[in-house]
Amino acid sequence: ELESRDIGAWFGDRLVLEGVSLRMPAKEVTALIGPSGCGKSTFLRILNRMHELVPSASLTGEVLLDGTDIYADGTRPQQVRLRIGMVFQKPNPFPAMSIRDNVLAGLKLAGVKCGDKDALVEQSLERAGLWREVRDRLGSPGGALSGGQQQRLCIARSLAVQPNVLLMDEPCSALDPTSTRRIEQTIAEIGHEVTVVIVTHNMQQAQRVSDHCAFFLAAENEPGRVIEHGPTDTIFNAPSDERTYDYVNGRF
Ligand code: ATP
Ligand code: MG
Repeated sequence: ELESRDIGAWFGDRLVLEGVSLRMPAKEVTALIGPSGCGKSTFLRILNRMHELVPSASLTGEVLLDGTDIYADGTRPQQVRLRIGMVFQKPNPFPAMSIRDNVLAGLKLAGVKCGDKDALVEQSLERAGLWREVRDRLGSPGGALSGGQQQRLCIARSLAVQPNVLLMDEPCSALDPTSTRRIEQTIAEIGHEVTVVIVTHNMQQAQRVSDHCAFFLAAENEPGRVIEHGPTDTIFNAPSDERTYDYVNGRF
């Protein structure tokens, strides 16, 4: 289980998130929804210690992975990012590196040894829904793939290190319908093995892929907060806050 406790986030002296306490149950899919600028990406980056890469950024609160604070003294951010992987809106494979080496790149960076590399490459690409399309050209450069294939390659790279958690920030918003469908299938498959947190602006997608949903909102000149969270079905069909109702019904 991944849990945030009372997260506050600043860029310089500007507070952009306040009081975000959220439980993201293990081996289930949590979707983060809400209007642009309400802090969803910032929150996601806090969950794997990427927030601290921005020089002006600061933070209060705690993030617990299976009860252990990922910000505890002596915990290395690189170690955290091995257990909590991230996929971005814009696919970012190493363009000149082969497809095969792209899949193995996360392990290599981490200095993790792996027994049967071929099996791992196949398994990771298979789980990302890309194996059949690339099995005959694993030596071609990652940059030669289409955008949707590159995104699936990035997912395979993240999965190859066998993370506990996969964070996905609008992973399909730049993609064609086929790649989107494949990625949703991947989420459906890995969602029982890995804890997934996905940010999406696509309400149908949130309903298709997630078990739980959190609605973020930032009122004007206010930090982003979680207005409501719960089972996806409840958020979409019986929300308790009027603002949630309006948002999921496209009235924002
Ligand atoms: P979107 O749906 O458009 O992706 P979001 O919910 O992901 O929006 P964030 O990107 O987390 O929103 O941004 C939250 C707030 O933090 C915004 O007001 C944004 O301007 C600000 N912000 C984000 N990144 C930085 C940064 N590196 N430096 C300063 N301010 C930032
Ligand atoms: Mg964002």
